Amino acid sequence: MKLELVLGLEIHIQLKLKSKMFCRCSADIYQSEPNTLTCPVCLGLPGALPVPNREAIKSTQLLGAALNCKLSGFSKFDRKNYFYPDLPKGYQISQYDLPLCVDGHLDLFSKRVGITRVHLEEDTGKSIHENGLTLLDFNKSGLALVEVVTEPDFRTSTEAVELSKLIQRIVRYLQISDADMEKGQLRLEANVSLRKQGSEKLPTYKVEIKNINSFRFLEKAIKYEVTRQSKLFETGLMPEQENRGWDDIKSVTLSQREKEEAHDYRYFPEPDIPPMEFSSKYLKEIKARVPELPDKKVERFVRIYGIGVDTARVLCESLELSEKFEKASKETDPKRLANLLVNKTDLRNLDVDNLLKRIKVKEDLLDESALKVIVKDVINLKENVKAIKDYKSGKEQSIMFLLGAVMKKANGKADPLLVKEILRKEINES
Ligand code: ZN
Ligand code: MN
Repeated sequence: MKLELVLGLEIHIQLKLKSKMFCRCSADIYQSEPNTLTCPVCLGLPGALPVPNREAIKSTQLLGAALNCKLSGFSKFDRKNYFYPDLPKGYQISQYDLPLCVDGHLDLFSKRVGITRVHLEEDTGKSIHENGLTLLDFNKSGLALVEVVTEPDFRTSTEAVELSKLIQRIVRYLQISDADMEKGQLRLEANVSLRKQGSEKLPTYKVEIKNINSFRFLEKAIKYEVTRQSKLFETGLMPEQENRGWDDIKSVTLSQREKEEAHDYRYFPEPDIPPMEFSSKYLKEIKARVPELPDKKVERFVRIYGIGVDTARVLCESLELSEKFEKASKETDPKRLANLLVNKTDLRNLDVDNLLKRIKVKEDLLDESALKVIVKDVINLKENVKAIKDYKSGKEQSIMFLLGAVMKKANGKADPLLVKEILRKEINES
């Protein structure tokens, strides 16, 4: 029996915001000592009242719009009940049946991947296992977290990895998250199952691989699962519905035997936060804020400016750099500008005016052969005979006089070091 992969992704993205999702604690967790950024709300103390972060909602809707989703006019938060030491309330505020964004898609190569939903929730704290103890840091507790859920449209691990990278590029472009995987700002989960090739039906089970923190691990974990599940099918067994984790040291996925398949999260509407309504005018404004996305922009740069795909990719790594390039390219040769920006990273930090100045200066300088002509002229002038004699007799200083004469003739459009070099050579040969 030939089997094919049926794979969907859940992608968690930490939003880049000043404060947390439901309280005013700082979200700048990387500069702070453990448990210093907490309050009754994000510690889940009884009676504390959550107040949603408006910017977090906007960022989520902006991402939803960029992923071609429908933005809901009516949405609400729900409680997802489960116990875990780093979740002090005993529930996570998330979204259940009325997420902020639904029903989108992204084009990957020539394939369209469905985006089921984009919703907003809060992050949990962090458990640190050390010397047989578990330490808890609640600084991360309550950070705004977006979850993107895709349709099970992937048939290869490569597709899943490429889509994850695309989402990373998009959230960086929208400037709503740094999406640094090492910092846990982008976390991946893969739902992996197999079915008979050609079958249209979804498999009756899925294996959820939790908390993957690198694209490489995602690829490895999926490949491992495909092999593991195929072997089960070969022996006539059906893989179990379960959660597994990727163990990079052993290069295997391991069953997380907390039997989470029995999980009943008992979702119910969050009673402390009223449902949200958004006017069509507001949603239109959000949609209008979606910039041209990086992949489209790369295509356009290649087409319009005649630069290579790799060069265009570098320029489109950030919105800022790509916009700088486009503005500056109106005043100078785009191909040359693109190459300079790719190869000389220090130029990227200049604003457009200074960037053009730096480039123009270099552009307008006379080349070596043009300078040689001027240098020869200067050497042959009667008025310079003395200076040349002086130089030849060892008066190094007199070259400055000749340099001045050349620079004057060149209207300042010469590299002095190059001029000196040519002068020395020409005088010695004269
Ligand atoms: Zn707080
Ligand atoms: Mn989630």
